Amino acid sequence: MKTTCPYCGVGCGVEVNAGVVSGDAAHPANAGRLCIKGSTLAATLDDSNRLLVPTSGGRQVSWDEALDEAAAKFSAVIAQHGPDAVAFYGSGQFLTEDYYAANKLMKGFIGSANIDTNSRLCMASTVAGHIRAFGEDIVPGCYDDIEEADLLVLAGSNTAWCHPVLFERALAARAARGTKIVVIDPRRTATAALADLHLPIRPDGDTALFLRLLTALNQQDKIDASYVRCHTKGFAKALAAAEENHISAASLGIADADLDTFLHWFCETPRTVTLFSQGVNQSSNGTDKVNAILNVHLASGRIGKPGMGPFSLTGQPNAMGGREVGGLANQLAAHLRFENAEDRAMLQSFWNAPRLPKKPGLKALDMFDAVLAGRVKAIWIAATNPAESLPRSARVRAALEACPFVVAADCWPTETTRLANIVLPAAGWGEKDGTVTNSERTISRQRPFRAAPGEAKPDWWMFTQLARRMGFAAQFAYTKPADIFREHAALSGCGNEGARLFDISGRAKLSDAAYDDMAPFTWGGKRLFARGGFSTPDRLARFLPVALPAPQKRDQAFPFILNTGRLRDQWHTMTRTGFVPALMESAAEPSFSLSPEDAKAQNITQGDLLRVTTRHGSAVLPAEISQNQRAGEIFAAMHWTGAHSTTGTINQLIGPEHDPISGQPASKFEPASVQRL
Ligand code: SF4
Repeated sequence: MKTTCPYCGVGCGVEVNAGVVSGDAAHPANAGRLCIKGSTLAATLDDSNRLLVPTSGGRQVSWDEALDEAAAKFSAVIAQHGPDAVAFYGSGQFLTEDYYAANKLMKGFIGSANIDTNSRLCMASTVAGHIRAFGEDIVPGCYDDIEEADLLVLAGSNTAWCHPVLFERALAARAARGTKIVVIDPRRTATAALADLHLPIRPDGDTALFLRLLTALNQQDKIDASYVRCHTKGFAKALAAAEENHISAASLGIADADLDTFLHWFCETPRTVTLFSQGVNQSSNGTDKVNAILNVHLASGRIGKPGMGPFSLTGQPNAMGGREVGGLANQLAAHLRFENAEDRAMLQSFWNAPRLPKKPGLKALDMFDAVLAGRVKAIWIAATNPAESLPRSARVRAALEACPFVVAADCWPTETTRLANIVLPAAGWGEKDGTVTNSERTISRQRPFRAAPGEAKPDWWMFTQLARRMGFAAQFAYTKPADIFREHAALSGCGNEGARLFDISGRAKLSDAAYDDMAPFTWGGKRLFARGGFSTPDRLARFLPVALPAPQKRDQAFPFILNTGRLRDQWHTMTRTGFVPALMESAAEPSFSLSPEDAKAQNITQGDLLRVTTRHGSAVLPAEISQNQRAGEIFAAMHWTGAHSTTGTINQLIGPEHDPISGQPASKFEPASVQRL
């Protein structure tokens, strides 16, 4: 059986035969490769810890009882307090069909846009940056570009650990054609250790570096004047904004020679791909960072051509599919736009929906603030564990404890399901049926190859059942994921005579058998924008005049910067990976990494217990003294939670700071203090 890996946004094809998992040699993302997480997937198919039956108030109930109660509670809250008093919080683990059903119910039928997902923690700044520059949320290139580039710039991306199969492709390119690899990251990560050039910039220094690069392209006469003139708007202002700043190597925290080398390589290498990930997105100026990167590629005309382009690496397996169906609170389905009245009217008509909100809903952080404040009185959380994964997770737990009605659907018990009134057992990988979209816009099937344990059901079914019980049976008559996919595909072609590039309407009439058999396909083609054709009204891309972010206020009480990130062998809050022995071997416990200089200054030795405190909480972990850390900075993996350690959840240390445009939390820059216990 061919299916797709459920972990990261690379979206590797997987074959499962007699319980043995191997890479799908025919899948365009991985050509048979798998990383350790993918290759140990079979070990996650252990049902011993699964949620098996619906419960209400801790008591086992039937699906009918659970869904009747949920529908009655949601309907009562809406009747008494209006549609914005309820919310859905979903996940990049959703299949596209799950996302579509949830989004349609909330936006079209409940009449609120209060649906957001954990993709807000992952890629929201890239979505906002793409829309500002291209008029639509589009990744212009494809994975083959990694192998066709002469220079790969990895910005804020520990690709070797977080997208391992793509990093293997990068190393293969280096072996085959001498591709140079530059890593921009404050830490000397596993990726940086293998780079030709590592730029350990100060935290949040990316905007400054790419502004400096734009001025260097201009000074060295590397602007593609024809591309800029024919296909873009706003270059002069963007360049002037960049030139306003004097950005030196010292201000970036790197050596003069390294900055010179980077600028020289970039200016002299037409075939350049800039891959970026959470180090760019998870920032209080993440959207500007994204646009600073897009600006240099537009200015040099290096976009949509073999081996050239800006390339956002998606963290989650289906964050891209979620973006296609409008899974975020500020999106509509099929790349339609809230601010466009025609789009809203068309969507309402297509869905035969009684109502459609005119404005975006609550983004993740605001959503849980609204729960805590009592403005949201009923919330449905699915396939994610915000009680441990969101910033200020202790506050999220308090919000859920105070919320009058919480439904949580998941495969495994989590801190979130513990706080829910109704807990629903969800079908998981290998049991669910649907589609996912990876970072290069390739839509692949996830196919079931085993029965869901107990009474577990897929999320699309739960939302469909909820909708029917809330009075919308006719518009939620789906009996299988193929029904939803066909509707989603048909919608993408509506009112879209080239207005939006996302268009899969050619698959709107697929038979069930053709849907089952559907091979991976890339919407929009492999590459976009080499000859312009952006999704703006005038078809021109926009340069953004990006300003340097204001310096972060520092407080003597919190002199360190806490940076959080992922480990190679773990995933999210470890509900799946934390129980696979092979995945626990490389890092069996969490730690705080700090530099030898800081350790010496505070008389800290390896393994000493450290209390790291921020304005939002504290945690106690062993010290790991690492040459890979810059002085003044601490790193902790964000996976560890109360379920896996006695020291507290790392995410409770992260504050509410976020990008003002995308709403994405700044999980890589939290002022902190360090105390040896
Ligand atoms: Fe799965 Fe990502 Fe590893 Fe591929 S690279 S096997 S998608 S975790």
